[in-house]
This record gives sequence, structure tokens and C-alpha cells, in this order.
Amino acid sequence: MAGARKPVVEVRRSQRRRRTVSAYRDGERVVVLIPDQFSRAEETEWVDRMLARLAAREGRPVRTDAELLQRAARLINLYLAEHGPAAVPASVRWVTNQNGRWGSCTPADRTIRISHRLQDMPDWVIDYVLLHELAHLIVPSHNASFWSLVCRYPKAERARGYLEGVASVAGVPLTD
Ligand SMILES: [Zn+2]
Repeated sequence: MAGARKPVVEVRRSQRRRRTVSAYRDGERVVVLIPDQFSRAEETEWVDRMLARLAAREGRPVRTDAELLQRAARLINLYLAEHGPAAVPASVRWVTNQNGRWGSCTPADRTIRISHRLQDMPDWVIDYVLLHELAHLIVPSHNASFWSLVCRYPKAERARGYLEGVASVAGVPLTD
């Protein structure tokens, strides 16, 4: 399922384009054509939107940072709502340098990083790792109150088993 990974994106700006944006797949890359006048913010927004559209058309999930943030918002709402802003991260990103970890959280600057190794995994496993890291914003250590937050997620145990299985097959001691 390598195709579910976030693809390499090449953005091409065109002076002839006014408002229209289009995207197509070119081998491993996705080319996104945008009007030259677009700001950086518009570029980011449209790249995410076009990747989602392309993925929907191709019938597979899209894994962008924006999607990750939406996912976090939904999980906070479902499981950590009473903590309010304490559960809200400053940023959530996919990263490729998480050796030995599925995810990590820095409570000091409220940033969360999720390993790209999860990109091909089912949604409910990604949700578990993300909720785990969000819970660290509230409780930094793995104590009883931390686990009581994480275990609100009905598939927490199942997801932990899934990840342990993947780690043992891969022969790497991956932790959370
Ligand atoms: Zn942890």
C-alpha cells in the first residue's frame, strides 16, 4: 500500500491561470498547477485540497498534515473535550525521522510528530497514536491518569496489539 503515502508534490505556478487549480499524477509525483498570484497560504491549502481530491478519485486515503490536524480536532472533541485548550496542540506533523517511535509530543511547545510509518496503517491505529500523543499534552508521563485518558478510546488495546505486531515483524523495538 505504498500509494497511500503522502506523494512528492511539484507545484507549478502559471501566469495564465487566474483562479483554476488542477492536479495530475506523474509517476511517483503529483503535479499541482496553480495561478501565479496565489500566496503561500493559498498554495498550501490548495495542494492539500487537490491531494485529497486525487486520493478520493483513486479511492485511497490521503495523509497530509492538514488531515492530521482535522483528525486531532475530532479526537479532542470525542475524548478530551473537558480539557479544553490544554488538549489542543500547536502543531501536528508527519515526520520521517522518528526512529524507534510511532509518535512524539513535546509538551513545552505543544508540538506533536507522527511517524510516516503509520501512513499505510488503518485509520483506527493512526487515531490511537494521535490520541496517545494528545493525552501527553495533558499528562506528560505514562502514569495511571495518562492511561485513563488513552483508554477512553475503545480500540486502544487493539491498536497497541497491532503496533506491537508490526514492530515485532519489522524486528525493530518501536515504542510510543
Ligand atoms: Zn507515550
